[in-house]
Amino acid sequence: MSTQLESARLGRYSWQLQAVAEAEQLDPEALRRRVAAGQAVILANPAHKTLVPCGIGQGLRVKVNANLGTSGVLTDLALELAKLEVAVAAGADTVMDLSTGAAAPMELARREILARSRVPVGTVPVYQAAVEAMEQRGSVVEMTADALFSVIERQAADGVDFITVHCGVNRAALDVLQSTGRVASVVSRGGAFTLAWMLHHHRENPLYAEFDRLLDIARRHDVTLSLGDGMRPGSVVDASDAAQVTELVTLGQLVPRARAAGVQVMVEGPGHVPLHQVRANVELAKSLCHGAPFYVLGPLVTDIAPGYDHITAAIGGAIAAWAGADFLCYVTPAEHLGLPTAEHVREGVMAARIAAHAAGLARGDAAAWAADLTMSSARKALDWPGQLKVALDAERASSLRRALNPDGTRACSMCGELCAMDMVAKALGTGTPRC
Ligand code: SF4
Repeated sequence: MSTQLESARLGRYSWQLQAVAEAEQLDPEALRRRVAAGQAVILANPAHKTLVPCGIGQGLRVKVNANLGTSGVLTDLALELAKLEVAVAAGADTVMDLSTGAAAPMELARREILARSRVPVGTVPVYQAAVEAMEQRGSVVEMTADALFSVIERQAADGVDFITVHCGVNRAALDVLQSTGRVASVVSRGGAFTLAWMLHHHRENPLYAEFDRLLDIARRHDVTLSLGDGMRPGSVVDASDAAQVTELVTLGQLVPRARAAGVQVMVEGPGHVPLHQVRANVELAKSLCHGAPFYVLGPLVTDIAPGYDHITAAIGGAIAAWAGADFLCYVTPAEHLGLPTAEHVREGVMAARIAAHAAGLARGDAAAWAADLTMSSARKALDWPGQLKVALDAERASSLRRALNPDGTRACSMCGELCAMDMVAKALGTGTPRC
């Protein structure tokens, strides 16, 4: 079996590549060249039977990921499956199952999510390896390298389309972290597990030391690697520091090795980053990582808005995507506070989609501009159904329209008879807006 990368290099148009090209209204040859060069990836594990493939990278629409998953405190599979439905209905392009808690419910959650999801599913395999180590040997640090690779193999065989692997949390990054210090230390869960294991065993991270073993699994299952940023800043004060950049340099060295092995690869980025550093972060990552698709976790542009972190992340996400990031991980209003509800998931997806769309306009995306033009024309015509057709969240817009205009006002209750659109249309003789 050829991976999407190998197939593209051979000049082939896989059905997955053709499906992505059609969905994005792209020339298949242009997409094939980007996939062959590693500038774009196609998330499509052949074992994920319900999947509609998704492309991420240069020249493609900016994509949005929604995180799901149970925790040790709240293990409610029905709720997570409801969140999956909400996330996809709200327009999430991918989901990640970040379940923790107990191993058996984690396996079940992953398999159920894979069976029901038509969008690509990602995971962070070290979570399961860590939980199994706790259950079987009493502590996360009792995880073995073999157990970690075994979990990766099992998840890949189940059909997981992309996996976050914290290969860059190595001795070099750890030495820098320890010598420079940080306000928020390490906030990545996978990064923390890896770091604790390395310090306990005085050994190198197996995902870095045995990267070829990881590549072998990824190639056999065509699982896309998402090189995680275990050293991502968890405070704007720590942004762009030496530990973060040291890890990024390592990830940049691993990208060509993955590509040479026929493995599709993305790179993950911060985190908490003040607004004025977002563009530089994206440009540095793109440059060091040879143009690999860049997946940002936010970035959150301030630390002091708990309850509104979907907004702090959307601000950072819009700037990041404008600067070249390809993939936005949503943040919900529950970030830093607790496991999100289904409504938080919906709000998080919408906020990230607004950021992605705003960046699409800035990047000259013709479809994005066409949608905004349609909306503006419909607004001018007071054409409410026409507005709803292109609204990112038609359900919310429709519900607000009804609730705020119980009398069915032709314009809206903001200005009523003093509607500027109406008045100017009459004054200019350009016709009375339609109801
Ligand atoms: S009433 Fe005011 S806010 Fe409402 S559509 Fe007319 S101009 Fe816009």
